[in-house]
Amino acid sequence: MPEYAARARELYHLPIFDLLFEAHSIHRKFHRVDDVQRCALLSIKTGACPEDCAYCGQSAHYRTGVEREPLLSVPRVREAAQAAKDRGAQRFCLGAAWRQAPDGEPFARVLQMVREVKALGLEACATLGMLTPEQASALKDAGLDAYNHNLDTSREFYPAIITTRTYEDRLSTIRAARQAGLTICSGGILGLGETPEDRCAMLAELASLDPQPESVPINLLMPMPGTPLENAKPIETLDLIRTVAVARLLMPKSRVRLAAGRVRLSPEAQLMAFFAGANSIFIGNKLLTAPNPAAAEDEPLLAAIGASCRA
Ligand code: SAM
Ligand code: SF4
Repeated sequence: MPEYAARARELYHLPIFDLLFEAHSIHRKFHRVDDVQRCALLSIKTGACPEDCAYCGQSAHYRTGVEREPLLSVPRVREAAQAAKDRGAQRFCLGAAWRQAPDGEPFARVLQMVREVKALGLEACATLGMLTPEQASALKDAGLDAYNHNLDTSREFYPAIITTRTYEDRLSTIRAARQAGLTICSGGILGLGETPEDRCAMLAELASLDPQPESVPINLLMPMPGTPLENAKPIETLDLIRTVAVARLLMPKSRVRLAAGRVRLSPEAQLMAFFAGANSIFIGNKLLTAPNPAAAEDEPLLAAIGASCRA
């Protein structure tokens, strides 16, 4: 971890062309540059979350106007997964505003959702909050491929953003998912008021997981009215590009995903992020409760780098 942190800091502050050159060279060694994974994300349970994540419109601690919705039915999820597949998605992620995955009927329903997603031939991912080892194994048995659980920021800055759980809670769910044989999707958010040092420390935490996460989502804060971060200052585009490039260099084999906040990036900024090593995006015009670029905007972008929009 200390070595990763020092290396991350050194890379982050390189002149931008040196950083881009290094990141792109490593990217080409480990990946095809025309291979951009297309993921879709569905909110299966929305709002009323007991956690107090300062960025999140779904936290019950803030009056955000996000409409609450109880756990969806299995047919609704099957329909959404089929529609995502028809739009060219390769991976389908089930997101729930829970502090921890529940037991009983709701959990059995989520397992059935996973089976339905797999039956469509899609990769299945879920993000349900904290998991016990037993729940992680049940998800794996139902066919789940990946579990998302973001570290969000550095260990030091974390308590300024979330007080209802600890960094260690986060890491122990990641361990449970890994031990059950699931692949790991874990990343963070930029624009929470963190310093470049925090970004480097977060990437170093992720890189020091052994094995490293197969997927690393990089979110840009989507300011949600009513949350403590509703007026947070947006980060500079170059800081996003630097973060993607350092993620690529520290975790050469992982998929680095441009996640929330892609709507705030110009096509040129997105191309620069792909050049820096991003190779996964969310498609579909909604991401949980936030807007996301429409297919009409993504298609020319993917075509420009020779990537396909279809399965
Ligand atoms: N409740 C589960 C959890 O937190 O693990 C899963 C759902 S949660 C909404 C998934 C991720 O979305 C968070 O970890 C965070 O990184 C990201 N996210 C949530 N609200 C966001 C916002 N306003 N802007 C950017 N990213 C956000
Ligand atoms: Fe709940 Fe997840 Fe939102 Fe935090 S990020 S408030 S855990 S839904």
